[in-house]
Amino acid sequence: MTLSATLSDLSILREPVKMASNCLFCKIAAGEIPSNRVYSDEELYAFRDINPAAPQHILLIPHKHIQSVAALEEDDGAMMGRLILRARKIAEQEGFAEDGFRCVLNTGVDGGQTVHHIHLHILAGRHLSWPPG
Ligand code: 5GP
Ligand code: ZN
Repeated sequence: MTLSATLSDLSILREPVKMASNCLFCKIAAGEIPSNRVYSDEELYAFRDINPAAPQHILLIPHKHIQSVAALEEDDGAMMGRLILRARKIAEQEGFAEDGFRCVLNTGVDGGQTVHHIHLHILAGRHLSWPPG
C-alpha cells in the first residue's frame, strides 16, 4: 500500500461523528429514548425539557453529535443558522413569539452544561430575569 493510499484511508477519521453511541440526546433524536417531540426533520430535533425551568421549555438539537458551542467547526455554521431560524418558527408555532422568549446555549462547566450534545434551550411563558444565576 502506498503512503498516499494510507493517508486517504485515514481521512475517514476526520469525518464528523454523526451519532455518539453513549449520548442521551443522540438517543432521544434517534427515537431510542422517548421524548415529548415538538419538531423533527432530517437535521434538527426539538423536544420538551424533562425538568422545565419555565412554562415553556423546549430543547432544540442537531441530529449530528456536536459536544457544545466550543466544539463547533466552520462547516457547522449553516446548520447553526438554520437552528436559530427553527427556534423562531417554533416560537411562532407554540404561540410565544410575540410575548418573547429566551434562547440559551449553556457551554462547558462554567456555562452550566450537563448534557454534552449541543442544545438550544428555548424558554418562554413567564418574565425571565437577568442576569442568570
Ligand atoms: P444543560 O444543563 O446541559 O444546559 O441542559 C440539559 C437539559 O436537559 C436540562 O434542562 C435537563 O432538564 C434536560 N434533560 C436531561 N435529561 C433529559 C431527558 O432524559 N429528557 C428530556 N426531555 N430532557 C432532559
Ligand atoms: Zn449526541
